[in-house]
Amino acid sequence: MAKGLKLRLAHLYPKLMNIYGDRGNIMCLQRRCRERGIDFEVQELGPGDKLKPKDCEMVFIGGAQDREQRLVADDLRTVKGKALKEAAERNVVILAVCGGYQLMGKFYRGADGEELPGADVLDIWTVHPGPGARRFIGNVVARWNGTTLAGFENHGGRTYVGEGVRPLAEIVAGYGNNGEDGGEGAVYRNVFGTYLHGSLLPKNPVFADFLIETALRRRHKDVSLAALDDGAERAAHAEAVRLATGRRIIA
Ligand code: GLN
Repeated sequence: MAKGLKLRLAHLYPKLMNIYGDRGNIMCLQRRCRERGIDFEVQELGPGDKLKPKDCEMVFIGGAQDREQRLVADDLRTVKGKALKEAAERNVVILAVCGGYQLMGKFYRGADGEELPGADVLDIWTVHPGPGARRFIGNVVARWNGTTLAGFENHGGRTYVGEGVRPLAEIVAGYGNNGEDGGEGAVYRNVFGTYLHGSLLPKNPVFADFLIETALRRRHKDVSLAALDDGAERAAHAEAVRLATGRRIIA
């Protein structure tokens, strides 16, 4: 059971990295914890605020346009980057979406050619081919852990993965990391990067619960989560899969 346990989430740059409704992921985690009697706490950390890896079970960073990423990259380099790497090595669950995912890597070269240093938590790097390049936009379906993830992508950056990570999921429909290798997202320890907006978690309750269990099991090995009434979530997932599978199949 999980009743009475606490899950503390550090939400990074909520005012800057919050595009395409990514805050919906926090609301989803909040509902899924509170309905199970798990004490869910959110600490919002903007530029200049310190991240304390010992004080959180989960970290979330959403997506953003290049302009906001430029503002955040500085703070990652000078304030939060070291603590993020420490959190990753402590197996804190880190969920990074799109622009936030890109900034977890070695660098993000934006549409203007400027190279922003990333937090170097994930062995990935991202290159935006320029303002005239095709943007990867639309519904996505990808295979993950014997089931599917469904979401929405909207990015110009192409992300490539190195030896130190594995893709989160395998593209069924859509573009994913770079529209070439069929990978979507990246995983290292309990760090999960993804291009899936949507928001991601309300449309993928199985993945949401996987993240909650993973975060709680760092301290409570035998945690199990009671089932919730996910009728609406499953219907949203099915609709997203229907819409996406009408798109070009990459894989
Ligand atoms: N600005 C980045 C890109 O275009 C990320 C966009 C996003 O977070 N949706 O690739």
